[in-house]
Amino acid sequence: MTETLSFRLEQIRASIAKAHMASPLSATMPQLVAVSKGHPLCAVEEAYKAGQRHFGENKVQEAEEKFTALKKLYKDVVLHGIGHLQSNKAKNAVALFDVIHSLDRPSLADALAAEMVRQGRQVPCFVQVNIGEEPQKGGVMPQDLAQFLAYCRERNLPVTGLMCIPPAQKNAAHFFGLLHHLAKGAGVNVLSMGMSGDYEQAIRFGATHIRIGTAIFGERA
Ligand SMILES: *Cc1c(COP(=O)(O)O)cnc(C)c1O
Repeated sequence: MTETLSFRLEQIRASIAKAHMASPLSATMPQLVAVSKGHPLCAVEEAYKAGQRHFGENKVQEAEEKFTALKKLYKDVVLHGIGHLQSNKAKNAVALFDVIHSLDRPSLADALAAEMVRQGRQVPCFVQVNIGEEPQKGGVMPQDLAQFLAYCRERNLPVTGLMCIPPAQKNAAHFFGLLHHLAKGAGVNVLSMGMSGDYEQAIRFGATHIRIGTAIFGERA
């Protein structure tokens, strides 16, 4: 890409604002989460200097390497964990992440709940829904969502939203609509959905958090 990172961020912010204005289901301005996985710390710092505060990483170790020191330096950085989380990483995840988008099974709910108590730190969690019901993908099946939400609440987990990754090569709008519908039924109004290629559609269906990597930072190695 030839344009600068700050130019690309400006363009994306403008199209987020435009999609928000045009979407009756978009109640609040969506939060842009800049997904920096696969990109070096200097790219994160460049985005920070361009005003970006929310970042997303999908691996705990990579996130620690880039963000542990950075978060001490820049207290207003908000770090989102967006990738599959092993239960044995719950301790590090609770210590590092400010939001977790990938709560997807009872064993992880147990591990996160125990760590939050132990560390005295409440980290808002989004339940990842396997919206396309794909066997190879993580996430709670739509028909199991109500039961899983109840399970999390019994453990006092701060579950505040739902997240999805629609099936590749399919009409994403259909799946954003489904997640919106599920959330409404469950009384949840925070929705993490939409990536570089489809975030405007996600905003049409009420996305409150969009996770954008490539369109900001370029292709990953
Ligand atoms: C990598 C990733 C993104 C960002 O994808 P882009 O297509 O690069 O914008 C969003 N969400 C999750 C869960 C990811 O792993």
